Amino acid sequence: MLRVFKFGGALLSSAENLKHLYAVITEFSCQPMVVVVSAIGKTTNALENLLRLKIKNDPALPSEYFNLKSFHLNLIRELKMSGEEELMPAVENIFRDLWDSLHDEYGDYYEAYDSIVSYGEKISSLIVSTYLRSRKEVVREIPAGEIIKTDSNFTNASVIWNLTEKNVKEKILPAINNHELVVTQGFLGADCNGKTTTLGREGSDFTAAVLANVLDATEIIIWKDVPGIMNADPKKFKNAVKLEKLSYHEAIELAFYGAKVVHPKTIQPLKDKKIPLQVRYFFKPFISPTVISEDGSEDEKIHKIIIKENQVLLSLSSKNLDFIAENHLSEIFKTLTDNKVHVNVMQNSAVSFSVSFDFDEIKLESVINELKDNFFIKYNKDLQLLTLRHYTPSLIEKFISGKTVFLEQKNRTTVQMLLK
Ligand code: ASP
Ligand code: MG
Repeated sequence: MLRVFKFGGALLSSAENLKHLYAVITEFSCQPMVVVVSAIGKTTNALENLLRLKIKNDPALPSEYFNLKSFHLNLIRELKMSGEEELMPAVENIFRDLWDSLHDEYGDYYEAYDSIVSYGEKISSLIVSTYLRSRKEVVREIPAGEIIKTDSNFTNASVIWNLTEKNVKEKILPAINNHELVVTQGFLGADCNGKTTTLGREGSDFTAAVLANVLDATEIIIWKDVPGIMNADPKKFKNAVKLEKLSYHEAIELAFYGAKVVHPKTIQPLKDKKIPLQVRYFFKPFISPTVISEDGSEDEKIHKIIIKENQVLLSLSSKNLDFIAENHLSEIFKTLTDNKVHVNVMQNSAVSFSVSFDFDEIKLESVINELKDNFFIKYNKDLQLLTLRHYTPSLIEKFISGKTVFLEQKNRTTVQMLLK
């Protein structure tokens, strides 16, 4: 009997929340537990920004770095915990390493990216584990790099399951058998050269699922600042309803289309071992969760609204007015893959091919540079990708009125549109 808990960054971002986290853990402490934490608040974005500033030689780098450091040090001060005297210099040391890492040489941008963004989880797991220890928990903090082994596909690494399993048995199991509370970092791994890798943005959920699979956990609980999985973002839609029960299949579909349910890779390792996933409301831990398991329910058929902002639509047409055929497509996809662009929607017509993806200045520039010799390229930014699952005509109408539709794709259950 064992549970894996995952706490996202928003839940760790104040002293009050961390105190509540301790309360949640003690409420559920009748079973052994592995706790997976993300970076605190918006730290991963802030770290991405530091790397961007460094690359552009932007003079704002030192001040942004100090802001991030002060944010963490202030949080520690607000916790007023025993152990603060040791924790402060330890966190300052990690920040010093971060500064050095920003100035290191790397094989490529992606390797640099993983090295820099990993500091968020490294800092949060240290703060969380020290805080829990100050509350008299017996805590074992295990760096993810010692457990999650991956290939070297930086920024979107794949887990090497047999090595990870071996590490879990050697490092996590003894701690559990010793009645220790294991705290580890989500999102991170290490390749066979010991270099830090990451599993993809929002990948902490996936880390929790990997550990649950290997440990044969009885369940996994993802704690959220919403009461469960809703059919739409409750911050944007007043009438959003909570879904009580979803099948693995529906959850995979929702995650695939970008619902902020759980990271898309999360479900498969759980489905393999039939481990149920609960999404629970951090601020009211005992209200009923959303349960994702083998059994679906009528909730599957409720319409679901998924919005991804900040999309680019890139349209390519061949310079000699050829049809866009297999040879062109393979060149386009090779470029997208080399630049680690994840395509959200694609569509082709006789002479053009369009893809949309999350806006990223560096990737967009690089893709355009690599393709501009062979293709005419047009693009639009600041688009919204709307996905309606189990749509109705009137629902579609409501969303598109007054907007321009740049692209539309429909099948029996799902419609996707790029809007502005
Ligand atoms: N901190 C990482 C991110 O923001 C991973 C996660 O939160 O799951 O993408
Ligand atoms: Mg997150």
